[in-house]
Amino acid sequence: MSAMKCPYCTIAFTWTASSSQHVAHDDEAAWRMESANCPECEKAIIQLVMTVADPDNVTRRREARRWTVQPRVTNRPPCPPQVPAPIRTDYLEACLVFDDSPKASAALSRRALQHILRDAAKVKPGNLADEIDQALASKTLQSSVAESLDAVRHIGNFAAHPTKSKNTGEVIDVLPGEAEWNLDVVEALFDVYYVQPAILAVKKAAINAKLAEAGKPSIS
Ligand SMILES: [Zn+2]
Repeated sequence: MSAMKCPYCTIAFTWTASSSQHVAHDDEAAWRMESANCPECEKAIIQLVMTVADPDNVTRRREARRWTVQPRVTNRPPCPPQVPAPIRTDYLEACLVFDDSPKASAALSRRALQHILRDAAKVKPGNLADEIDQALASKTLQSSVAESLDAVRHIGNFAAHPTKSKNTGEVIDVLPGEAEWNLDVVEALFDVYYVQPAILAVKKAAINAKLAEAGKPSIS
């Protein structure tokens, strides 16, 4: 039993397997498949569980790792619904391939980053390093987000790898931590450019509805 969020509807629930089947073992580990249906949306979820001998207690086994095999999921947060489709697609794919190919993930997240800067920060299209400069120069980003964005260039060592900046989407070697950092920054920018403005717009609309009822001029 463990707490989890349904990968389909994101409702949190306690995982209680409705079926559990041994699938394989060797002298190091054993694997079993567990399944359950989400109590909220009722979709089927399947997990592969690896257990190993417990060195402190030979009669017991301990769980070493657990993977959700159906549906395909990532350990990144879900993409906010306000994010436009092409950026969402690149982001989700960058998350999906992250474990198997950090290079492919970083290529996709650099491209997502460039799309966000052009779409939401309205930078003039150039290379990614210049576009980051423009976004920073606009001084519209909170300092922690601005520093994180700036660090994309340093962690990726764009000076030594100009292709990363010129042809985003191209698959080239990544430096340790780069793929993960890019995803962190993309997620921070989702919040700044898409989620927060949408929340603000809803609040403004509610206030304006009240002002209109009271016969007062609306706020812009
Ligand atoms: Zn669900």
